[in-house]
Amino acid sequence: MLDVRILGTPPNDNALLVTADGGQSRSRLLFDCGADTLAALSPGEIRAIDHLFLSHLHMDHISGFDAFFRMNFQRGEVENHIWGPPGTARILHHRFQGFWWNHASELSATWHVHDIGEAEVRTFRFEAHEAFAVMHEGPCRKLEGPVLTTPEASVTALSLRHHGTSLGYVVREPDRTAVDMAAVKALGLAPGPWLAALKDPGVRAVMIGGTERDAAALREQVITAMPGDCAAYMTDFRADAGERARLAPLLAGVGTLYAEAQYTPEDIELARRYDHSTVTEIAELARMAGVGCYTLLHLSRRYSPAQWRAMRDAACAVFPQSRFIPEWGLD
Ligand SMILES: [Zn+2]
Ligand SMILES: [Zn+2]
Repeated sequence: MLDVRILGTPPNDNALLVTADGGQSRSRLLFDCGADTLAALSPGEIRAIDHLFLSHLHMDHISGFDAFFRMNFQRGEVENHIWGPPGTARILHHRFQGFWWNHASELSATWHVHDIGEAEVRTFRFEAHEAFAVMHEGPCRKLEGPVLTTPEASVTALSLRHHGTSLGYVVREPDRTAVDMAAVKALGLAPGPWLAALKDPGVRAVMIGGTERDAAALREQVITAMPGDCAAYMTDFRADAGERARLAPLLAGVGTLYAEAQYTPEDIELARRYDHSTVTEIAELARMAGVGCYTLLHLSRRYSPAQWRAMRDAACAVFPQSRFIPEWGLD
């Protein structure tokens, strides 16, 4: 299951903390870190974040970076990775250097910053013991499929239009397998350790009650595949008709779309001017993509809570599964 937590409350900055729990291990993924978005997390929770993904480098999506970096700058027990659109490493180089580093020689942490382009990922390395003074050019890899794959989840970047390129992200758990106990019973077989063995596609035969059985045939009868959880994060982007047609197929299988709700339908001219979208354009994208639901975030202080509710209602008229999270108390 993906545990998704929206950080920050309207009309302040938002971020998304996604924990993919694989049972034996977890991946903790933070998407953006605007001002005060990490205030709700304990130091331990901030230290446990494995990857930081930035949608883009506008202030309201990175103002809280110092809170993240302060906890983790010397983190050596896990790798430190930050991902973002082209130019991310250059800007973070300044952020890394924005402090006195008198004791740099005693530090040992390494930071990897990945600039995600349309067709390639360029990685840059920064060393704490160098006081982050050098931007080491690292490998450049061709981008095909997800930018990151862990045992618990994969993350795919979506190129979005917002004063150049901003990035959306789709987090997808691997498919899971489950035992159909009714099918086991129907075959007259007694449950046992063979069921767990059957989930391993490499196993060719299993022993049941002293009899060897062909695993492939049994697998087909009693093991069912269930799609893993999938969520998308899309903030600050233009969702006009052309972009909706381009993006909708990329959201196939998404359960919840966490997306901006910056402009009312009436303010479409403002939305165009700032390369954003109206709430109904996003709802239309959600409808076209067939996602499970659209969770509104990144609300604008331009509007009142009553207007936010009206925006939600306008979204619902296009795509009924549009909602605020209950914790915001807006309903
Ligand atoms: Zn923004
Ligand atoms: Zn922006």
